Amino acid sequence: EHYLRRIESHDQALNSYITVTAEQALAAADAADQQRAAGDAGVLTGVPMAHKDIFCTQGVRTTCGSKMLANFTAPYDATVVRQLAAAGVVMLGKTNMDEFAMGSSNETSHFGPVKNPWGVEANLVPGGSSGGSVAAVAGGLAPFSTGTDTGGSIRQPAALTNLTGLKPTYGRCSRYGMIAFASSLDQAGPITRTAADAALVLQAMAGFDPADSTSVDAPVPDYRAALDAPLAGRKLGLPKEFLAEGLDDGARAALEAALEVYRQQGAEIVEISMPNMHLSVPTYYVVAPAEASSNLARYDGVRYGHRAEGADSLEALYKRSRGEGFGREVQRRIMVGTYVLSAGYYDAYYLKAQQVRHLIADDFARAFEQVDAIIGPTTQGPAFALGDKTDDPVAMYLNDIYTIAANLAGLPALSMPAGLVDGKPVGVQLIGKAFDEAGILNLAHQFQ
Ligand code: GLN
Repeated sequence: EHYLRRIESHDQALNSYITVTAEQALAAADAADQQRAAGDAGVLTGVPMAHKDIFCTQGVRTTCGSKMLANFTAPYDATVVRQLAAAGVVMLGKTNMDEFAMGSSNETSHFGPVKNPWGVEANLVPGGSSGGSVAAVAGGLAPFSTGTDTGGSIRQPAALTNLTGLKPTYGRCSRYGMIAFASSLDQAGPITRTAADAALVLQAMAGFDPADSTSVDAPVPDYRAALDAPLAGRKLGLPKEFLAEGLDDGARAALEAALEVYRQQGAEIVEISMPNMHLSVPTYYVVAPAEASSNLARYDGVRYGHRAEGADSLEALYKRSRGEGFGREVQRRIMVGTYVLSAGYYDAYYLKAQQVRHLIADDFARAFEQVDAIIGPTTQGPAFALGDKTDDPVAMYLNDIYTIAANLAGLPALSMPAGLVDGKPVGVQLIGKAFDEAGILNLAHQFQ
């Protein structure tokens, strides 16, 4: 009731929710109370939360931030939704996001931009694409939320709103029922205030799912048990490429302060080199649009989604439905993706990008022979204002310059709150070895 009231009084200003499921939430809270009374409550029983509107929720509108799905009601729950429900959480609603998760500021949403609670008057963006998920938590409209991260969409918005955002290893959480953007990069993860909360939520989200062929059948460790391990002797790699031009002074100072905290706890900071890091953004902007163009082919106006009126042929129906249903950024990605996959260009762009992706993964493999985890900035600086980067897609794409490499290599990565620059939050990023979510959660918990 508290959170529903907060949503009622504050979400007009933030626009963090697309759909609020008040009645269902109250019923779920009652059920949780009964479970608690019966003595079989788990750690998440009755905890309210919000799901990014990219996760299918049975009987509840699931829009993916698009006009294309504005009236789509999902016929089933995504696996992570089902697992969290089984753990007893109470869903408050579905959060705003960039259309089909394409964006870094939540400005591509069909449902309007979201404001960052750290700068409502200054019109600061919350980051994206999980902009509604972070604004809801940072604004006190949900204790935690889910997000998805294809190139930074959990970590970048978490950094800009002073939250903890974790992108798990590719294959750790099921993608079943999570609307696909770029299938080889997409991962679901928790958005929370602290690393300890992230451990609890990840525990409920993670695990093998036979319904997702890329989900990995590996045991899920006890994330909470790992939080308190001492850091003495731990080796943290600092890629020198992360400190190159572009990083603003405030973000650099926050990173240096974090390094000092770790040194004081007995960790060793090792300078490393990742020579192919600078290729991550261009590689991503071939691979992700290519996969997106294929995934978004299903929105044809026939099976589901927006259907244009008055088309007089099948081709006209496709063209008009897609022209009306998709926003400009989504159309741009579909065109780029179709181009790089087309005969004659496939080898020069898509195949080349796949090769460079391997080089980037090799950089990580080499680094992890030397260090236990990698540390660096999450973003180049704090939140910018609405409209600042909308005219320049490349400036917008550079938001993810530090986050994208972990997606290309499939590695777990986390952004943790690292202080304020002129009153605006910045984050520090930790990247772990494959399936070592416990290791980076431990590091983040010891920092906090
Ligand atoms: N900002 C990046 C993009 O627009 C990443 C988005 C994401 O992680 N979903 O593609």
